[in-house]
Amino acid sequence: MTLDPVGQLAPQDWMEAHWTKRVIAALRAEGAEVRFVGGCVRDAVLKRPIKDVDIATHDPPERVMLLLEQAGIKAVPTGIEHGTITAVTGGHHFEITTLRCDVETFGRKARVTFTDDWAEDAARRDFTMNALFADPEGRIYDPFEGLLDLGAGRVRFVGDPRQRLEEDVLRLLRFFRFYAHYGKPPPDAASLAACRIMAPQLPRLSGERVCGEMIKLLQATDPASVLLLMQGERVLEHVLPEANDFGRLRVLCFLEGRGLRMDSVRPDPLRRLAAVLRVDQDGAAAVADRLKMSLKQKNRLIQMAAPPVMPHPSWSGPQRRHLLRRIGADIFRDLVLLAWAQHKAVEALGSAAETEAWIDLIHGADSWVPVELPVRGRDALELGVPHGPAVGALMTAIEAWWEAEDYRPDREACLAKMREMAGG
Ligand code: ATP
Ligand code: MG
Repeated sequence: MTLDPVGQLAPQDWMEAHWTKRVIAALRAEGAEVRFVGGCVRDAVLKRPIKDVDIATHDPPERVMLLLEQAGIKAVPTGIEHGTITAVTGGHHFEITTLRCDVETFGRKARVTFTDDWAEDAARRDFTMNALFADPEGRIYDPFEGLLDLGAGRVRFVGDPRQRLEEDVLRLLRFFRFYAHYGKPPPDAASLAACRIMAPQLPRLSGERVCGEMIKLLQATDPASVLLLMQGERVLEHVLPEANDFGRLRVLCFLEGRGLRMDSVRPDPLRRLAAVLRVDQDGAAAVADRLKMSLKQKNRLIQMAAPPVMPHPSWSGPQRRHLLRRIGADIFRDLVLLAWAQHKAVEALGSAAETEAWIDLIHGADSWVPVELPVRGRDALELGVPHGPAVGALMTAIEAWWEAEDYRPDREACLAKMREMAGG
């Protein structure tokens, strides 16, 4: 089946970029037809920034490898059995996939055959708005009325939703992710009904894949409404039953977005995850383990979702600096935002003075310069304090004094004070 173009993309920087042209020229060197596909076309239509460039071609993957290598472009066989090669040039990655139809699909793996039919390739894609193609001249091809759906904010499966979810249940999470980023209410009823039925299959997915989708969902402008929708459809309980504090998440997203406009405050999906969880330390650790997070992510999630103490605007300078010193500026800022969001979720209207006080806490983190106690245990020994618990006790006392003096006393002053304390 041949497809006629239905529109024309405005000139795109990413299409005109040197490295994109290099890859396209390599793939076309012997006459193959190539088109951009998926997210880059969808986002170009909406004039949103492009995340990555996916390309589809008639040529089989081995030939794609050869063509890239002939042009001196690095080619990595990232998913060669499914027809995917990654081209790397100028630090940019391009996923190049041979036109295919999925003969049989079982979760992530599909038995594929290659095809030269663009419509067949489009039919195996998840949503109509993700089945758009654009050729290197910018002509748009749209086999499933994806442009119409994109304009209307309608995230809709290509084909029968139930069947598409049975083939690959990851699409269920992708449905809510794309709805969060591109959808307008109400969500497509047929898709939603199928998601509700298929949700009990979600635990079959690996933690990494669930995590990847949830993190992307949390990057949307208003993820709280979508998580609430997922809860109502009895989907959320199969992936993130701990998510419950939608009010706090909503306020946090507001603060991170339009609310604050501070350079140091940017939307942060892990902070957003922490905001929506109602967990203790073990609960936070369990979420991180289930989602196969890195140790760094896990520690940060625990610190944010179940902190032993939350900063408060009534705190004195020394109280603030005490915590800043212990946990560092970044986590401190996270905790201020989470505490503020929690407060505002309950009491929506704060006074201007209250707002200033919260902002002042963030400024405290922004201007924080880490400091180190200028004396050590060895100094205590040199002053004649005997080995053992007395050293620790003196160090604790001098540190408390130094902190109360706002870290101003230098080494000499601290030694003098230690002498005085030890003498006492
Ligand atoms: P993003 O902007 O997040 O990269 P994307 O649409 O490019 O969005 P990718 O995950 O990069 O999403 O996938 C590229 C394309 O591959 C999609 O647009 C879609 O056409 C197709 N696709 C990806 N995952 C699936 C899936 N599980 N089932 C069917 N089609 C899929
Ligand atoms: Mg993509």
